Amino acid sequence: MASNKKVLVLPGDGIGPEVVGEVRRIVDWMDKRRHVTFDLSEGLVGGAAIDKHGIPLTDETMADAMHVDAVLFGSVGGPQWEKLDFGVQPERGLLRLRKEMQLYANLRPAMVFDALADASSLKKDLVAGLDIMILRELTGGIYFGEPRGIETMPSGERRGFNTQSYTESEIERIARVGFELARKRSNRVMSVEKANVMESGVLWREITQRIHDDEFPDVQLDHMYADNCAMQLVRQPKQFDVIVTDNLFGDILSDCAAMLTGSLGMLPSASLGAEDPTTGARKALYEPVHGSAPDIAGQGKANPIAEVLSFAMLLRYSFDMGEDADMVENAVANVLATGIRTGDIAGPNDKVVSTSQMGDALLLELDKQSA
Ligand code: NAD
Repeated sequence: MASNKKVLVLPGDGIGPEVVGEVRRIVDWMDKRRHVTFDLSEGLVGGAAIDKHGIPLTDETMADAMHVDAVLFGSVGGPQWEKLDFGVQPERGLLRLRKEMQLYANLRPAMVFDALADASSLKKDLVAGLDIMILRELTGGIYFGEPRGIETMPSGERRGFNTQSYTESEIERIARVGFELARKRSNRVMSVEKANVMESGVLWREITQRIHDDEFPDVQLDHMYADNCAMQLVRQPKQFDVIVTDNLFGDILSDCAAMLTGSLGMLPSASLGAEDPTTGARKALYEPVHGSAPDIAGQGKANPIAEVLSFAMLLRYSFDMGEDADMVENAVANVLATGIRTGDIAGPNDKVVSTSQMGDALLLELDKQSA
C-alpha cells in the first residue's frame, strides 16, 4: 500500500549503517504490528557518496531530501576521507542538507533513563527521570553575523571580531517552535539570553514575550540569563521543560545538558525548517548526536539507541505519532531497566550485547507493549 509518510534514509559511514539498520527493523515491525507504513527511500551521503560519486551529496539526493516529509540520517566521516579538500569532506554533505533545507531549529533532548542515572556526573537524584529539551536557533546569531573577520588596526595590533545579530522574524519563528514543542510536553518554556548586557538579548526577550502573549498564552513562559541557566542546569536540571535560546548559547548549553545524561550513544536530535505555507509541514532531519565512531565500526559494538530515539522524534514531530513515539521510548527504558547494555553504557556487572542484540531486545519490548 502506498504511504503518505515519505522518509529518506541516509545511513552514511562508519556505524551509521549499523544503527540505521536497527531502526529499519523497527519500521518493519510497525508495518506488521501497528499497520503503519512508511515510504522509505535510501541515499548515499558523506564518505559513501564520495566513494561512488566523488562528492559528499549529489544534487539528486539533495532534491530527494527536499521532497520527503523527513530525513533520517546516520553519521558521516572517517579517517579514509580526512585528507580530502575541506570543500568535499564527508561533513559537507550534512552541512549542505542543513543549509538548503533551512533547518533553523535544532532540538536536543536530554533524557536520563532511570537505569542509567548512575552514569551521570551529577548525583543520581538530581538527574533520574530528567527530560528536558534544548531548542537552539541554528542558522543565525554570532556564527553567521556580519561584519566578521580579523583586521589589523592602525597601531599594527590585530583585532578579531564577530557580530551577534537577530532579526525580529528570526526570533519569532524559533519562539513559535519552542511554544509548539512545549504544548507537546509539559507546557513550559524558558527563554534564555543575556538581555542584561546585549541588545540582541533585549530584542529576543521582547519578541518572545510578544509571541507568547499573542499566540501561546496557555504556555508558561519565563526568562533567564544564559550564565544563570548554565548554573541551573547543573544545580537543578529538572526545573526545565523546554529551553529556547540562540545559536551560541544553545551550542554550549546543549552540550552541557547532554553530558548530564552520560553517553553519546544515547543522544538523539532533530533539526526543523520552515513550515510549508499550504500543508503546515516542516522540513526535518533527524540524527544521533554522535559521529561515525570509526574505532568500533563494523564490529557490532555500536549502541543503536541514539538513532532509535531520533526515529522516535521523527514519529512525534514529523508525523504527530506521539503514541508510537512513546512506545519506542518506553521500549528503550524497559530494555535498559533489564540491565541489557551495549559496551558504551555497560557497568561492570551488566550483560554486554551487540548492536543487533540490542535491536532484538527492543523489538521484544515493543511486542510486549502491543500485546
Ligand atoms: P564519535 O561520536 O564518532 O565518537 C566518539 C567516541 O564515542 C568514540 O570512542 C566512539 O566509539 C564512541 N561512540 C560514538 N557513538 C557511539 C555509539 N552509538 N555506540 C557506542 N559508542 C559510540 O566522534 P569522533 O570520534 O570525534 O568522530 C569520528 C568521525 O565522525 C569523524 O570523522 C567526525 O568528523 C565524524 N562526526 C560526524 C558527525 C555527524 O555525522 N553528525 C558528528 C560528529 C563527528
